[in-house]
Amino acid sequence: MRPVVLCFSGLDPSGGAGLQADIEAIGQAGAHAAIACTAVTIQSSQQVFGFDPCHAELVRNQAMAVLEDLPVNTIKSGMLGTTDNIKMLTRLFANKVIKKNTPFVLDPVLVANSGGSLGDEATLVAAFKTLLPYATLVTPNTHELRALSGEQDLHVAAQKLCAQGTHAVLVKTSHDFDSGDIEQYLYVKGDMVHKSVLPRLDGEFHGSGCSLASYIAGRLAIGDTLVDAVITADAWITQTLRAADNPHPDQPDAQLIPNRFIKAK
Ligand code: PLP
Repeated sequence: MRPVVLCFSGLDPSGGAGLQADIEAIGQAGAHAAIACTAVTIQSSQQVFGFDPCHAELVRNQAMAVLEDLPVNTIKSGMLGTTDNIKMLTRLFANKVIKKNTPFVLDPVLVANSGGSLGDEATLVAAFKTLLPYATLVTPNTHELRALSGEQDLHVAAQKLCAQGTHAVLVKTSHDFDSGDIEQYLYVKGDMVHKSVLPRLDGEFHGSGCSLASYIAGRLAIGDTLVDAVITADAWITQTLRAADNPHPDQPDAQLIPNRFIKAK
């Protein structure tokens, strides 16, 4: 069977972000996605109206059903929604229910691209501190990176997370809208090991962060090194954004939905 990535992520009914993004991106990376659903959000492609988190025991039971059945070799988390869910996932690592050294891509989701809340930021940030040391790679946007580290400078912030135990941090400047091209830095154990510059494409995208993190997780699952996974994911995500669908062509500021049914070259 293809290697399995177990994702802890929320349902976005518009299909742009969340667990649908995970399933599509991981499938395109050549792995199989299994999902423990953490929350059901109420949202369109443009706006979050609310969400109902799943109880931590329900999420754990979903994860256990998968872990006892499928050859899971990578974990990915997106929207966790509550501190109970973050603590539950931390315990799965701490108690070695998830095997030691299993690659873990942690996308520390706090808010949607549209600005809508996907949990209480202050309590989620505090709870993430115990989960971060289990992460192989954290993929925050600039807002999340500053919130998690308490640092404004992105390089200092990434180094601080590494000093606190996170193996690697992928810094993405895509949310700093006054910057030109998008820069990405990959910090491993506090050192920058890779830097890339991506073109800033016109438009805002719904689910680009989930897609990138999941594609990386899928590539790690099939055996890529971290640097190779990031390089391949950058090429793939750029294509999905270039081919993105616009649900509201009459609205200049509409958020576009990445077209993830695109093969990396
Ligand atoms: N997870 C869920 C369930 C979401 O609804 C969203 C955003 O709407 C996200 C994650 C984060 O999405 P993005 O990839 O745009 O950061």
